[in-house]
Amino acid sequence: MTDTAVVPRTPLTLLGTGAMGTALARTWLAAGHEVTVWNRTAARAEALAAEGAAVAASAAEAVAANRLVIACLLDDASVGEALEGADLAGRDLVNLTTGTPAQGRTRAAWARARGARFLDGGIMAVPPMVGQPESGGYVFYSGSPELFEEHRDTLAVPAGTRYAGADPGFAALHDVALLSAMSGMFAGVAHAFALIRPEDIAPKDLAPLLVDWLTAMAPAAHAGAERLQSGDYTGGVVSNLAMQVAGNATLLRTAVEQRVSPELLTPYMRLMERRVAQGHGDEDGTGVVELLDLRRR
Ligand code: NDP
Repeated sequence: MTDTAVVPRTPLTLLGTGAMGTALARTWLAAGHEVTVWNRTAARAEALAAEGAAVAASAAEAVAANRLVIACLLDDASVGEALEGADLAGRDLVNLTTGTPAQGRTRAAWARARGARFLDGGIMAVPPMVGQPESGGYVFYSGSPELFEEHRDTLAVPAGTRYAGADPGFAALHDVALLSAMSGMFAGVAHAFALIRPEDIAPKDLAPLLVDWLTAMAPAAHAGAERLQSGDYTGGVVSNLAMQVAGNATLLRTAVEQRVSPELLTPYMRLMERRVAQGHGDEDGTGVVELLDLRRR
């Protein structure tokens, strides 16, 4: 017996057929779900009509069509605007629009006040990864645990699911934490490419070396987590901060030699230097977290 015969596919509404919304809608349509779509610019939803989606004339009409309503709009303000005239009573609203933790919490209270259950989401994927389980893409969810359990199979159609907790701000917080780490990585990659640019070295030859090195270094995050948990930043340190700060001079001198701006590197280096100046040269880099924590200043 096939899944199709056993599991009734939950019909759903999708608000927003931009790049991400369209990719999401396609996977649900392909999996046999009835999908009602709405997009502010109607022309952008037409391709999905040809693939079997029902196109609603307004967001309110789309919300009225199904209990499960998924929003994937530009930002939190557009969610408020789009849903202004919609009756959310009895709806299960899943907000896949990127926002901040505070926006997630406020939007959850806003939805609850309108009689809806609410789940916030943070998408850890780009559109080509949607519907491709082997890509490793997934979505963080937080908010109503009942909503998540009830719709878990449907939500798992476009990408993996990770429930981050009942606090509706936690999906956004996890999303932004990972994106912030990624921005540091991309900053480093940009600096590395800039360093080799004046030379006869092909970027495509450096790329695999960068990927291997960053992959080898990434597990240091586990050690950092353990140190933050225990509060011991000095035990078993293999690359102490004083040594790293001394090494920074070489990184900066090389940037000068290669005529590359150090502006992506220096903010992090300043923090490392400050920590050493405060007498923590025997630590690893974990103590930088203390300097970033504005609650402790
Ligand atoms: P797009 O720019 O392709 O689409 C934006 C969507 O929001 C469109 O449907 C647009 O409608 C709609 N919109 C914008 N402003 C309003 C408004 N005031 N009222 C109603 N609708 C509005 O963006 P994506 O689809 O790529 O992104 C959607 C969400 O997904 C964002 O929050 C983004 O951060 C998130 N995301 C995207 C990823 C990506 O790589 N693309 C990756 C991970 C998350 P219209 O067509 O009328 O302009």
